[in-house]
Amino acid sequence: MERMSAGGVMAVMAVMAVMPQRSWPKRPLWSATSQAEWCRAAGEARYRRTVLRARQERCLEYPVCTSGTSGTRMDKYAGIRTQVRRQNIKASEYEGTRALGADVDLFEYQGKQYFERYGIPVSEGAVADTVDEAVQAAGRVGYPVVVKAQVKVGGRGKAGGVKLASSPEEVKAHAGNILGMDIKGHVVERLWVEHATDIAEEWYAGFTLDRAAQLHLLMLSTRGGVDIEEVARSEPDALVRVHVDPSEGFTGGQALQAVTDAGIDDSVRSETADLLVKLYRCFVEGDCDLAEINPLVLTTESKVHALDAKVTLDDNAGFRHPEWAEFVATETTDIRERRAKERGLNYIGLSGDVGIIANGAGLAMSTLDVVSQAGGSAANFLDIGGGASAELMASALELINSDPSVKSILVNIFGGITRCDEIANGIVEAMSRVDLKSPIVLRLDGTNAAAGREILAGHISDRLVAMRTMLDAAARAVSLAADR
Ligand code: GDP
Ligand code: MN
Repeated sequence: MERMSAGGVMAVMAVMAVMPQRSWPKRPLWSATSQAEWCRAAGEARYRRTVLRARQERCLEYPVCTSGTSGTRMDKYAGIRTQVRRQNIKASEYEGTRALGADVDLFEYQGKQYFERYGIPVSEGAVADTVDEAVQAAGRVGYPVVVKAQVKVGGRGKAGGVKLASSPEEVKAHAGNILGMDIKGHVVERLWVEHATDIAEEWYAGFTLDRAAQLHLLMLSTRGGVDIEEVARSEPDALVRVHVDPSEGFTGGQALQAVTDAGIDDSVRSETADLLVKLYRCFVEGDCDLAEINPLVLTTESKVHALDAKVTLDDNAGFRHPEWAEFVATETTDIRERRAKERGLNYIGLSGDVGIIANGAGLAMSTLDVVSQAGGSAANFLDIGGGASAELMASALELINSDPSVKSILVNIFGGITRCDEIANGIVEAMSRVDLKSPIVLRLDGTNAAAGREILAGHISDRLVAMRTMLDAAARAVSLAADR
């Protein structure tokens, strides 16, 4: 669950008070004075409709994720990272939108760069992918520094992924230890080296969406630096919650009240309130589902400052953020998933050895089930979708073939819109294009299945086995994987 894109939101959802349902404020279309303005206004209205509905759905079904146009429930599969796809929303509502596919969690350093755009104070820092780069970065930002693992999971400090260093030797040692470290299943490939801060107090501040209330929610506490869920449990009064109506926004006055309620010292109240207003702007204008600072620190020089950043972007707003492309590029650290993304395939990497290709999210999930029923485990989830072409099929096979853990490939196609002859051509093409390392077990049924089998007839061998039923095909794929 940790790597699910909405994981952060879920954590804070857990501490939200449930509010009565409210309807979204009705907004008149802007009175437009030019065509450009009208387009912008219409786009805005469409975005609001779309995002609201998507958010409502995600709220209602949370943590049940859905995938695919047929709305297959993926709650059974909540243990695997799922693409939360929008659905039940007319395609026309997406016109002109560039979907990212799923919410995007940012690395801490990206979150801090995002904060900076809105004037939220952060420490000076630089990224480093090697020990040498870390030493150079430390020299640039000035000692003492803190060397921080960049992984999309909390609790890095406790895991030893955040270390203070006051000399190049210390940076070398810490960077060497942290790079390659496994933090809750996330391998550290990148570091963030920033100038160290002298901390007087650690607080918590975050904006998120209260899906039940359909309002924005500020959470603020002077008990920061630790797990905020723990604070909510053990000291509920220490966590200030303020609902914000998105049509009214978050004012300086509300911010000051929240800061006062949280018991933040007089001397830094207005500075903190100012930071909260900036964080709200970042949350709204930056189209975040979550913008969280833990810890927000009071320095020994009485400055208020973001020492960590957790930002989740709302993919529904992707169409108006071309700059998000850079975040999507680093979004996944699984090389297989990165390759799949480049090919436009709906793929999730898993840890077994039976590679899976199916059409439709529902069938792909059932295929995972029958593979485990047959005593095996899947190396991936891969849905090539409806109406897949031969080219897409070949591309999918190449992707699976490049996964070293795959020992057999199970292709499970039930042709509806998808034509089995296209699939067969794709398999033939892949077999001629690349040297497939694993045997393929094929179950082909539905539209043009006979034509598909005919195309494949001359290619059937111990490298390409055709089975009549899904269960038989799974059993064969599992036994072939076990034999190798
Ligand atoms: P997380 O554990 O993944 O949430 O990582 P954080 O970025 O929140 O860092 C964990 C802890 O490291 C913080 O709560 C601080 O106590 C400590 N820390 C991080 N940066 C600094 C720094 O610049 N100076 C000092 N003294 N401590 C820091
Ligand atoms: Mn933190």
